Amino acid sequence: MNQESLSKKAFSTVSIHAGQHKDPVNGALVTPIFQTTTFAFDTVDEIADIHSGKHIGAIYTRVRNPTSQQLEDKLSAIEGAEAALVTASGIGAIGSTLLTFLGQGDHIVVSDVVYGITTLLLHHLERFGITCTSVNMTDLDAVRGAVRENTRVIYAETPANPTMQITDIAACAKLAHEKGALLIVDSTFAPPPAQYCYRLGADLVIHSTTKYLNGHGDAIGGVVIGSRARIEQIRDAGIKSITGACASPFNSWLVLRGMKTLDLRMRQHCAGALAVARFLEQHPYVRKVNYPGLESHPQHELAMQQMHGLCGGVVTFELCDDIHGVSGYEACKTLLNSLELCSLAVSLGDADTLIEHPASMTHRLCTPEEKQRSHISDSMIRLSVGLESPDDIIEDLKQGLAKI
Ligand SMILES: *Cc1c(COP(=O)(O)O)cnc(C)c1O
Repeated sequence: MNQESLSKKAFSTVSIHAGQHKDPVNGALVTPIFQTTTFAFDTVDEIADIHSGKHIGAIYTRVRNPTSQQLEDKLSAIEGAEAALVTASGIGAIGSTLLTFLGQGDHIVVSDVVYGITTLLLHHLERFGITCTSVNMTDLDAVRGAVRENTRVIYAETPANPTMQITDIAACAKLAHEKGALLIVDSTFAPPPAQYCYRLGADLVIHSTTKYLNGHGDAIGGVVIGSRARIEQIRDAGIKSITGACASPFNSWLVLRGMKTLDLRMRQHCAGALAVARFLEQHPYVRKVNYPGLESHPQHELAMQQMHGLCGGVVTFELCDDIHGVSGYEACKTLLNSLELCSLAVSLGDADTLIEHPASMTHRLCTPEEKQRSHISDSMIRLSVGLESPDDIIEDLKQGLAKI
């Protein structure tokens, strides 16, 4: 399919065809796995032309690989951006990006609710003289107040893990650009066709492809998407010379395959999550449900607009503190130990429904203050609604809750 004309096509068409080029040697329709470390050339000049930027080509897989390149083309197309860079993991993408644009004496403003390991990564950056201020990103005045002379990056995650709070991307982009800073957004919880962060003004968009983009729970990966100049800067500094966190060709191929069904899968995840959230909201043992698609979510309107009514597949909820004399934490344990269909596992965005306890699992290394700031209590549960029938997921939760 002609790649130029794709930009005018519907999302499902783009996610299937973008980046896919018929193999010139054997005519393979599906991108082959170029499982090779290095590439051979006929002349020294050919290599020099790649180094000088005259041609784009692969020399060594840490920097570029044809399978990963096709995934990069697909990912930049779905965000409507110029370029993308795939990495070994989502954290590989975040680390390689921040280490490219931040140096000693620089400052970063970060949302107070972010992926647990992102918080730890920022602690490590402080060892290198990069300071960090966390703010409630839903409060734009607080963000503006946190920006300093030396602020280079504003970093947001939306919806945020695990409270599902929403950052207004367009407003934050405007603020960042007024202050001469970059806006970087981790959009893992709601990739296109839900939200298009690049079009809303983010300079760089990050996804853990481990989650919805691959969608099948069998490959760790990440991506950063943006302008060609910035992406090549990250490829050259962050990936090639600092972290070396390149994607493996096989994992890129798995994500390419997963993305052919992204549109269908996202719609089903979102519909299932809304049904499950509505069930939980009316259950007497449940104190609070956080899901942007619910009218009770404090930023429901912004979420519906920014995510085109597709609010993602993750629902978090808190159990009541005293259920027939059982504490919230004990009740969580009983529920999690009693489920049959939902798997007790970290991660999200898989075909399988996954359920976990943030305080003791994904966020266990956060300090008590960080947990409090991120509104993570001992009675909170995070549920990644999979592609099973929502009725079956609800039935499993119902029987688990009844065991408390
Ligand atoms: C999983 C996740 C990451 C990290 O991605 P990995 O692929 O596990 O390294 C970063 N941000 C968010 C929001 C995530 O859910």
